[in-house]
Amino acid sequence: MSDIDILIRGGRVVYPDRDAVEEADVAVSGGRIAWIGHGRGEARRVLDASGLLVAPGFIDTHIHDEEIDDPDTVEQALLRQGVTTAIAGNCGSGPLGREIFPSRSRPWLNLGYLTGHRCLREAVGIDDVYRPATAEERGGMASLLEQELQSGSFGLSFGLEYAPNTSPDEIRDLLKVVRTFPRRWVAVHIRHDGPRCVEAVQEILGYARETGLRFQLSHLGSMTAFGRLAEVLSLIDRAREEGVDVNFDCYPYDAFCTRIGSAVFDPGFEERWGRGFEALEVGSGAYKGRFLDGRLYEELRRDDPHLLIIAHVMNAEEVRLCLSHPRCAIASDSVLKRGQGHPRSAGTFPRALRILREEGLSWPQALYHATTLPAEMAWLDSGRLAAGAVADLVIFDAETFRDRSTFREELLPPEGIAWVLVNGRVAVEGERVLPERGGRLLFRDGRV
Ligand SMILES: [Zn+2]
Repeated sequence: MSDIDILIRGGRVVYPDRDAVEEADVAVSGGRIAWIGHGRGEARRVLDASGLLVAPGFIDTHIHDEEIDDPDTVEQALLRQGVTTAIAGNCGSGPLGREIFPSRSRPWLNLGYLTGHRCLREAVGIDDVYRPATAEERGGMASLLEQELQSGSFGLSFGLEYAPNTSPDEIRDLLKVVRTFPRRWVAVHIRHDGPRCVEAVQEILGYARETGLRFQLSHLGSMTAFGRLAEVLSLIDRAREEGVDVNFDCYPYDAFCTRIGSAVFDPGFEERWGRGFEALEVGSGAYKGRFLDGRLYEELRRDDPHLLIIAHVMNAEEVRLCLSHPRCAIASDSVLKRGQGHPRSAGTFPRALRILREEGLSWPQALYHATTLPAEMAWLDSGRLAAGAVADLVIFDAETFRDRSTFREELLPPEGIAWVLVNGRVAVEGERVLPERGGRLLFRDGRV
């Protein structure tokens, strides 16, 4: 009997870390890549990959699956695109571990969590998002954060736009805790979108300089693609030249999506985005697909604050510019409410890769933004193809690979996927997710 579980035969193997493509077979055994080469041995199962690309599974460092009724839908939508590892808990919403892990012990893909600033605030009894924390509450949040990092959280996330009066002291007290753990980062949904995004990015670069911590600016397109993106990218470039450890993520759409009751939709948004109700589409619930007017806005803010709104307000050309930057990781910012929401949950990776190909990148160069870079940003060992590496793989047709999800049908799976492997097992065949959950919860250990 062969010791090879799966032999992927005759594909074009992509190495995003060294901009190379080679025709070779990939042998998988015991959840890892046994070898990459030619014509050796038998296997329990052979996948004919002739004419297809064989790439490392995609890594999505920015998802949300922590507060929806049905986390399976988000994970399966990601898996069908080729995402094999994801980091949840972004934008301040990462739950404290003990609340989530019992129900999520066997995910569909490999899943790690960030600890959310909002959840820390709620855990010490702050129920007003507009109120800064007191010194005593800051102390309570810091010790909770320490416990979370101790028990395997990947870092800390902020949603400063959702808690707009968070004080610099509150932020610094938490960063101090993160500094005592190795390989943890801080993901920030910055304080302002629109014209004030420049000062909001400068604020974060300031913390990054002070602390030496790694920062990830969240969905940078949706915060800055209102005429300020180029200015922000040059700020980031200059900071990186000085040694500041900052990266960012972006999804490939010119519309964002969040809850109508959040501070993002407080009065005054028209001036920030240069668009009003006519650009705001209901993304979930009974009114899905309707655009807002004054009356519906008031009603939904009051009666259904968790309802999702899709805001068609960013400049598409700036979003493309953001995606093309060498420090931009493709990330979905997936969030759904009862299976409804923005098409990014099901379409981000094929859509972003297609844009990068149109911008002139080779397949390995485009896939770098979905594999090598996010792996580096999160200190993960996945995102690469080599003997001994975890067998997270995506096998797809380069010609037909494209997103199909739309604002009407947000969960349509992409076209062009042949197979997705998670931890050495076939998890997706074509558009179908197989019944067995093959992912693992990821934890980070250690202390400085
Ligand atoms: Zn966010």
